[in-house]
Amino acid sequence: MAVAQSPTVVVDGVELTGEWMNFLPFRVETDPFDDALLKETMTLPGGESLAKCWQCGTCSAGCTMNPYVDGFNPRQFIDLVRLGDWEEIRAKSDQIWRCASCQKCTHRCPKEVNTADVVGAITALLERRGVYAKPTNAEVFAEIFMDQVTNHGRIEEAKMGQEFYLKTGRAGELAKRAGMGMQMMLKGQMKLFGGAKVKHWKGMQEVLKRRRAAAGGAH
Ligand code: SF4
Ligand code: SF4
Repeated sequence: MAVAQSPTVVVDGVELTGEWMNFLPFRVETDPFDDALLKETMTLPGGESLAKCWQCGTCSAGCTMNPYVDGFNPRQFIDLVRLGDWEEIRAKSDQIWRCASCQKCTHRCPKEVNTADVVGAITALLERRGVYAKPTNAEVFAEIFMDQVTNHGRIEEAKMGQEFYLKTGRAGELAKRAGMGMQMMLKGQMKLFGGAKVKHWKGMQEVLKRRRAAAGGAH
């Protein structure tokens, strides 16, 4: 967009003309603005204060996750909702899901936007529209780990490594580590074919059953 320079400006006899008076010409939206996404997000729990945002960026500047997750920017998430840009919000869903709910943004907002809850409302919007968070590598690892414990009572390192790299889309890394795996197998530190259950499998099942019951059915 071209930058225009103002003509001479004098206010109350004071000459105010100067480079600092450069300004961007007014923009006029010719397409009808679609505020359906904004309205929908504001009806979700936590989204009520969204419209008060004036885009100052204070929230993003102090956000806990901003330095760690590339593209994590609460000010921009709010802007995208206000622009009605669903496609961009969906494209950023992996980042939006990473909010730590630490409330720093809410405490710093000069407009009393409940920013953390607004981000929560945007994640609820994603969920409502069928867009879910991809599991983190740690979650994938934990799931494979628990599957092995509950099915065999023990961990099978080779299978675990294979599944982990394949499920996290890193087949190349698996190939790179094949040599190290082979050395561990030759030294008897890892077995290629596991599948065997622990010796006292029945007793182990009892322990697992009790733990599940104590955790309310979850394992
Ligand atoms: S600090 Fe508040 S007003 Fe500023 S961009 Fe963030 S939510 Fe909007
Ligand atoms: S609640 Fe979320 S958006 Fe707000 S500062 Fe913490 S991580 Fe950032």
